[in-house]
Amino acid sequence: MMMVGTDEAGVERSLLSGELVCPSCSGLLAPWGHARSRSSRGPEGTVRHRPRRARCSSCRGTHVLLAQAWLWRRADAVSVIGAALEAKAAGAGHRSIAARLGRPACTVRGWLRRFTVRAEQERARFTRLLVALDPLAGPLVPRASVVADALEALGAAAAAAVLRLSPQPAWELAARATGGRLLAPVGGSRW
Ligand SMILES: [Zn+2]
Repeated sequence: MMMVGTDEAGVERSLLSGELVCPSCSGLLAPWGHARSRSSRGPEGTVRHRPRRARCSSCRGTHVLLAQAWLWRRADAVSVIGAALEAKAAGAGHRSIAARLGRPACTVRGWLRRFTVRAEQERARFTRLLVALDPLAGPLVPRASVVADALEALGAAAAAAVLRLSPQPAWELAARATGGRLLAPVGGSRW
């Protein structure tokens, strides 16, 4: 799998003109049909989409091109999951977050638990990203929890990305930076 931008037509153009590079070997990717169609839940309701599949001209590996609005093996948009993580960092509990987002409490609890386990790793990742985007970035202010620290680093990296790259929502940057694995099991080799 490989994360790409949310501009479907732009991704298609890049794929057809050989601008997309294989994440395994840096060979050029060419179109290779589509992945199966899936139903995902965005902030405004269910969205049906069918990710593009590409094949490497060098190593022959195939990759599903997943738009950075989504995460690997998660039905909900990263913006929705991100809103839940922000509410947790602000002190809300999983039931109230679930009610506000219109999602099952057990689903939201699963997101929060998984991210809490990954929070230190993601704090470090987003801090490295921030420094890469803005070498002169000042130190981050420590927050009340590691989850809040991770979100602080993400927010700063996203602000730097707006200046260095292009405007993009912070949670889409997080999806891209984690290779879609923002909520993957830690050390889960089956991902
Ligand atoms: Zn390759």
